[in-house]
Amino acid sequence: MAQKGKTQNHCMFCGRSERDVPFLLQGIDGFICSDCVELAHDYLKDSKILSSKSSSSDERIEDKNKPADIKAFLDEYVIGQDRAKKMLSVAVYNHYKRINHNLVDKPDDGVELEKSNILLVGPTGTGKTLLAKTIAKMLGVPFTIVDATVLTEAGYVGEDVESLLTRLLEEADFDVAKAERGIVFIDELDKIARKSDNPSITRDVSGEGVQQALLKLLEGNVVNVPPKGGRKHPEQEFIHVNTQNILFICGGAFEGIERRIAQRLNTQVIGFGATRKQKIDKENLLRYVDAQDMRAYGLIPEIIGRLPVITYLDALDRDALLRILTEPKNAVLKQYAKLFEMDGITLKIAPGVKELIVDTAIKNKLGARGLRSICEQIFDDAMFDAPSSGKKTFTVTLAYAKEKLADQI
Ligand code: ADP
Repeated sequence: MAQKGKTQNHCMFCGRSERDVPFLLQGIDGFICSDCVELAHDYLKDSKILSSKSSSSDERIEDKNKPADIKAFLDEYVIGQDRAKKMLSVAVYNHYKRINHNLVDKPDDGVELEKSNILLVGPTGTGKTLLAKTIAKMLGVPFTIVDATVLTEAGYVGEDVESLLTRLLEEADFDVAKAERGIVFIDELDKIARKSDNPSITRDVSGEGVQQALLKLLEGNVVNVPPKGGRKHPEQEFIHVNTQNILFICGGAFEGIERRIAQRLNTQVIGFGATRKQKIDKENLLRYVDAQDMRAYGLIPEIIGRLPVITYLDALDRDALLRILTEPKNAVLKQYAKLFEMDGITLKIAPGVKELIVDTAIKNKLGARGLRSICEQIFDDAMFDAPSSGKKTFTVTLAYAKEKLADQI
């Protein structure tokens, strides 16, 4: 109630006095009432100013990242693997388009886009994990890597498969909505394959059990996730995570899969395939890999059905390894150069050293994964001595590198 003689404060928008409104907010130079705040909010929402703001950062991921943009980003970090990069870029683009189509635009045309989880088949150390990790980095979505073999070892399979989402939640700082649009990379999927493609003869319970449990996540369900990962904390409340929009990228070497591909393509029997199918690249059978081969390898049809995008990675040859050493944005040698640079030292690599590193990796069957440990061996002492040496340049000569790798070459 206004007192006699005291001036009433008024809302600068509707003009009503503080007596006539539920609440009056004070600004620097005036007031606004709670009714006008509500009206303003509704107006901004209707004119899409508010909603587009909240969805611009991550909900509209596909607007900023067309397949060609995704591929170009992958090119900066991953050498070769063009086919996989292209398929992955399209699948990821469609995935985020699907999220917006189903959740944001809510179509009435009845066309619901299904999720396209991805299966990457290729030898170990060829960049499967790197591809998945790089995509997540580009999109700025939570990302986690899970090893399928760990799931086999545990007794209580179901719970462990669910606790795989705990790690994704951790990556998302327990922001459930954020985790629900993240990416999970499941490595070594081949290790949980059934040992025989005829389930009635050799029933490999552990492999099939884990596949069944994984299926629940892949197909999109609300899963009860233990916040601290499992059985150790039975008292904790579960967090409900919907896996509908989580993108699962699976990887595996699927050793020996070429034999099955060959069988299917009929190239094994001399003469047969040759007459019917010309131009089969027998040196690179992996490029023909498809769902049937996965089934023959021991993945259950339901899992295969949830991994509609299957692509392959090439084995890395000497040339590719040389490029990996220097070309990617965070190439191993660039990292060492940076470390020396931080001490004011210029790193120089003499001719032949890179080839020596690559050849050592090939000789020891370490592939790309071995490049870093070989470099570590070469640079170890120098990293210790150089900062206090006062020198402005450090040159790795071929003789120096050979001496450091003496026990390996
Ligand atoms: P995979 O998952 O296929 O077993 P990774 O992606 O874990 O192999 O590769 C192991 C390491 O080797 C990576 O961290 C990266 O440093 C290097 N690497 C492998 N393949 C490539 C590639 N195609 N381009 C660049 N680096 C690669």
